[in-house]
Amino acid sequence: MQTKTTATWVERAKAIATISFPAIWPFLNFLDINRDENYSLLRLGLYGVVTLLAAILGFLIFRIVFGKTLSWNRAGAIVAVSIISFFSYSITYSLAHELWQGYYLKSWAAFAVIMFLLAWYLSRAPLFQNLVFVLGVVLIVVPTARYLTYQVQDLMAAEKNTAEQIEAISVKNSGGLPGVYHIILDEYGRADVLQKIYGFDNSIFLQQLADRGFYVADKAMSNYWVTAASIPSVLDMSYMFQGVSAPQDNEKARVIYNGGGRVFEFFQKAGYYTALMRYHGADCASGSPDYCFSRSNIIFGELESNLIRLTPFYSLIDVLFFGDFSLIPKYYELWDVRDFLAGLKTQKPVFAHIHMLIPHTPHRFTRTCEPINPAQQKTNEDLYKGYIEQVECANIGTLELIDTILDRDSDAIIVLQSDHGPKIGVEWQDWRADNTWEQSFSILNAWRIPPGLDCRKELHPELTSVNTFRIVTGCVSGTSPDLLPNRWFNGAPKNKNYIEIFKR
Ligand SMILES: [Zn+2]
Repeated sequence: MQTKTTATWVERAKAIATISFPAIWPFLNFLDINRDENYSLLRLGLYGVVTLLAAILGFLIFRIVFGKTLSWNRAGAIVAVSIISFFSYSITYSLAHELWQGYYLKSWAAFAVIMFLLAWYLSRAPLFQNLVFVLGVVLIVVPTARYLTYQVQDLMAAEKNTAEQIEAISVKNSGGLPGVYHIILDEYGRADVLQKIYGFDNSIFLQQLADRGFYVADKAMSNYWVTAASIPSVLDMSYMFQGVSAPQDNEKARVIYNGGGRVFEFFQKAGYYTALMRYHGADCASGSPDYCFSRSNIIFGELESNLIRLTPFYSLIDVLFFGDFSLIPKYYELWDVRDFLAGLKTQKPVFAHIHMLIPHTPHRFTRTCEPINPAQQKTNEDLYKGYIEQVECANIGTLELIDTILDRDSDAIIVLQSDHGPKIGVEWQDWRADNTWEQSFSILNAWRIPPGLDCRKELHPELTSVNTFRIVTGCVSGTSPDLLPNRWFNGAPKNKNYIEIFKR
């Protein structure tokens, strides 16, 4: 029987390792799950190191308090189990939501106490101590191996892509090219669907667009109903996701998200100044646009918000601050685009791709754009109401943005469109169900093409997203566009299998 005084350095090291593995695990797992997201490795690493140091400090304090009764290895096993409980908040949260739609903190506290007592009891057995140690090893080895495998596949795909020659589109008149502003309002539904399903009349906004010279395609559709497939396909001018997506498709999508790909290259070759703004920032360092708003400027972003979700702080902070403090991540919003545009210092014609999250969840504004704290639990009815409020706020911000663009560039081509429909409460497996098709694919799609440009004749009510830049590049190069037939693909970002579906 080992006692505190005879504990060897090996035992101490093993105990420290036992608690270190579960402290690092959430960060490695997060890195693996979000490998497509390009989160800052520096920030994630920093949070990981701070957590690890806190865990070691906590363990040493635990040792000081219980050192007389517990051996190093036993204390290590108990603390390790407690750390796992701490990072399991999202699991107990969804369980509590399933069971009683509330009691989130209480459910987690009960779970953590039971786990602690169980660990206290079981940790008498050296077998349990070893099991916790082995569990820790598994917890860190599995995500690390998966992440590294993906990185290697990724690297091979990237080499393939650079070898690929990108077709050049020749530009006839390089002088006096129109500025092109492509604005995505995520999940913004088409007017007839907003009326039919949400009981909301959006005709005033559409009239305000018409007053500014916009054509609204009133039967417009996207070709995919998830952002991760829809936007890359628009900016690649192709149905780039068909069937199970290959690593090179995902690599290509990442390049596109950071300001590369066929559309950006077209504009660069045509002598444009290319600019990129994404609602959660772009990875500007790895992209090639001339101008970009970076993610690193957002202090409390999706990375922080998603990490806190793993721990009881997610609910605790709302309780402590009486609901005044909101843990919704900070995004670039429509009004931030003004700063973005002000930073465009160039004599060249501008191509800007601006992807805004609004009216997509989290529902963070009132209909007059006052910030609100979204409730953590929502019925479909709440979501419908919140969604329409985001649409109304988006309308205000969008009109201001369009006027700002027209002030600096009155001959600009502006394309205002959504990447997919509202699809609230819609399951992708149920695409044959009533309204699902409309909810998923019906989008806002509004075009401002200055009167002098011949390509206005390409606009018609049933435009789909995939042809957006076939039309725009045709406008710029003065050629007639080679349009693709309309097709639709079902699929969820998780399984990454995009199956062609046909309307009833
Ligand atoms: Zn979207």
